[in-house]
Amino acid sequence: MSRHGISSRIVGHRELSGVGGRRYSLRMTETTSHGNELDVTALRSRVAGPVLTPRDDGFADEVAPWIRNFDHTPLVAVGVTSAADVVATVKFAREHSLPVRVQATGHASHFAITDGVLIVTKRMNDVAVDATTRTATIAAGAPWGAVAAAAAEVGLAPITGSSATVGAIGFLLGGGVGPLARSFGFGSDYVESLQVVTGGGELVTVSSDQNPELFWALRGGKAGLGVVTEIRVRLVELESLYGGSLFFDADAIEPALRAWVDYTKTAQPNVTTSVAILRMPDLPFIPEPVRGRTLLSLRFAYTGDSGLDLAAEGDLLAAPLRAAAPVYLDSLGVMPAGEVARIHGDPTDPTVGWTLGRMFTSIDQEFASALLRHVGAQLQAPYVAVEVRHLGAATEVDVAGGSAVGGREAPYTLNLVGAPNPALFAEVLPQYSAALLDDLTPWLAEVTTVNFLGYPGTNAWSAETNERLGKVREGVDPEGMFVLE
Ligand SMILES: Cc1cc2nc3c(=O)[nH]c(=O)nc-3n(C[C@H](O)[C@H](O)[C@H](O)COP(=O)(O)OP(=O)(O)OC[C@H]3O[C@@H](n4cnc5c(N)ncnc54)[C@H](O)[C@@H]3O)c2cc1C
Repeated sequence: MSRHGISSRIVGHRELSGVGGRRYSLRMTETTSHGNELDVTALRSRVAGPVLTPRDDGFADEVAPWIRNFDHTPLVAVGVTSAADVVATVKFAREHSLPVRVQATGHASHFAITDGVLIVTKRMNDVAVDATTRTATIAAGAPWGAVAAAAAEVGLAPITGSSATVGAIGFLLGGGVGPLARSFGFGSDYVESLQVVTGGGELVTVSSDQNPELFWALRGGKAGLGVVTEIRVRLVELESLYGGSLFFDADAIEPALRAWVDYTKTAQPNVTTSVAILRMPDLPFIPEPVRGRTLLSLRFAYTGDSGLDLAAEGDLLAAPLRAAAPVYLDSLGVMPAGEVARIHGDPTDPTVGWTLGRMFTSIDQEFASALLRHVGAQLQAPYVAVEVRHLGAATEVDVAGGSAVGGREAPYTLNLVGAPNPALFAEVLPQYSAALLDDLTPWLAEVTTVNFLGYPGTNAWSAETNERLGKVREGVDPEGMFVLE
């Protein structure tokens, strides 16, 4: 494995034993070899949703993830429709000593699943917004877009990520930072309570009053903590914001990047920005103005200050960035908060993918030079996107009583998104990225928040948080049934 843990991510090689101080206790490979002998008849009679084995029609569609690198082949996939279905499925897995995984959308499908039970939550997609308490109750499989749309109807907004198709629960379990991160913090800071099925098959309520240690862990601890059937989150009062993206063409990438690096040093707490160097494929489905071009997309979100004119203030705050270099396309302006996913313009259709995330303790002009040496416009870098986000302000402030979110102290994130060509995934991207990360070593943080790391490796949390998480996992799942990936 390389110094930066890159190769392990790509080949799906498990780096996970010992995460949080525990090891798997289940017979994963042995179970796989006996796969076809598993009798799921009893399970079918106990759950309302489909129970499918690899021999059944519809199995491939049931397990298909958003990241299409693997055709998953769990022994059995259960399309749960209720908390009762989840309880019955977990009890069945326990009776048969099978490992359990959960998939909502499959945006984090970085390893091939070849054994055990896969709980598919996509049918549990109810979202109920209560305008009086300013909360949303989100079922296990709902994507952020559905939550944002329901909240917008009553002038409220959830604290989402950049993409409308990412699952709310998977995101929140990892903490979750989005386009409004500096204004509002991590998404998990807004979690009020959860319904969770434990390794014993018991449905429990988790909040600051009930099971508080599990409550601490589920906000950022990501995996091995049970199956969440529903989450209640606080919503914020936000109908509009000033946001969008400034696109700079290849020649303007360097001055725009350098101006942004300086801008982040004094940015207001309610302004969240990021940059992404995009190498847009020359393909018909890419909109004409950006097709086949290398561009820098500078994303901007200002959430306003009551009493001030949003458009005028936004224009003022964005002025130094607009002046950094000639702007090729400008979509900045007042926009509905329910359309926050427009700011980053993440892909929405399933795709093969290779990603690598890290965090930085700081950045400066030397950092910009190092980054450009590897991914500057004149180079043939193997990425479709190289993104740096500015966090800090609200993300640095933990909730009362604390949470397991990792990386809270690091004010910048890095996301490398490889060109969607599987031929590059095994060697070209890992090697190119290792050289890039070597050059960025002076700015790298020790911890990378788990959603950006992509899997719950030990460097997703501090040693202290890791140890505490290990104890919570032991308590909720003593037999180690819930797989940590
Ligand atoms: C295009 C894209 C954009 C992204 N943008 C952001 C971003 O802006 N900010 C950010 O923080 N992250 C972002 N991510 C990362 C994303 O938040 C994580 O990958 C998240 O885990 C995806 O959740 P999911 O439900 O969509 O995916 P899935 O692959 O279905 O689930 C991911 C994992 O979440 C856990 N999980 C899901 N549901 C449950 C449940 N009901 N009970 C227990 N465990 C469960 C499981 O461990 C599962 O393996 C992005 C990812 C992609 C691909």
